[in-house]
This record gives sequence, structure tokens and C-alpha cells, in this order.
Amino acid sequence: MRVNRRMRIRHEFVEYVPRSLEEGVLYISIPFATAVHCCCCGCGEEVVTPISPTDWSLTFDGETVSLNPSIGNWSFACESHYWIRRNGVQWAESWTAGQIAEGRMRHRAHKESQARAERPVQDVRRGNANGSANRTLLQRIRSWLSRRRDG
Ligand SMILES: [Zn+2]
Repeated sequence: MRVNRRMRIRHEFVEYVPRSLEEGVLYISIPFATAVHCCCCGCGEEVVTPISPTDWSLTFDGETVSLNPSIGNWSFACESHYWIRRNGVQWAESWTAGQIAEGRMRHRAHKESQARAERPVQDVRRGNANGSANRTLLQRIRSWLSRRRDG
């Protein structure tokens, strides 16, 4: 994970987007229905987000701005993916704990299915698995009987 990843951005309403962009500034041009900013990972790439019903929508709550949907810079080397929400930058990787939990669950399910697939081999190797199973059952019955006698 990059250390210079930005967690906040400030917005600036402009008519024309300046030639050189300042990092950490989301330039918004209402006349041109476009927002431009430097990629929040710090790679310096220029991210142009047209504002239209089929591109991005911009929300200005009087203090902060949000862009929807998320910004996925797949065409850049950094392949950054983040949301701009109320002048905060929410990185996709750290965004949902739910996604992480889902990933962990999938990993566990995968491991369990692998364990199931391996079990028959282990049983063959053990050989006297049935004998030990019977012994355990007998022990269980005995302990159950003794519990009953005591009680
Ligand atoms: Zn970047």
C-alpha cells in the first residue's frame, strides 16, 4: 500500500481547469460540466470525470462534494480505485470490512472443501479407523451408564 495516498481532497469551483493541477484539489467546472483532479494515490496522473447523467454525478452539500460512482483509474499504472465522498477519499481496498470478511469466508470454505477431499486418503492410511471409532463409542456408552448410575 502506498504511503502517500490521500485521504482528503478539497474542491474548488472554477470556470476553466488550470493547466497545472494542484494535488489534493478537485477542480469543478460547472460551465463545462467536468471535474478534474490529480489521482489521489500521488502518481500525478490527471483524472477527468465528466459530469453527466451517464458519467459522474456531483453532489455539493454546501460544504463538501461527492462524486458518484467510484473513480477507477484502471488505465493508469497505479490502477487506483476510490470514492470521493464529502471531500474524503475512501480507498476501495479499505472501504468495506464486509468484502474482507467475505474474502476470508471464501478462503475458509475453500480450505474446508480441500480438507474434505483429502479425508478419504487419510482414512485409508490409518487402516484401523473403524476399530478406534468403535472403542470411542463403547467409551461413550460406558461413561453414559456410569453417569446414570451416579445420578
Ligand atoms: Zn494514481
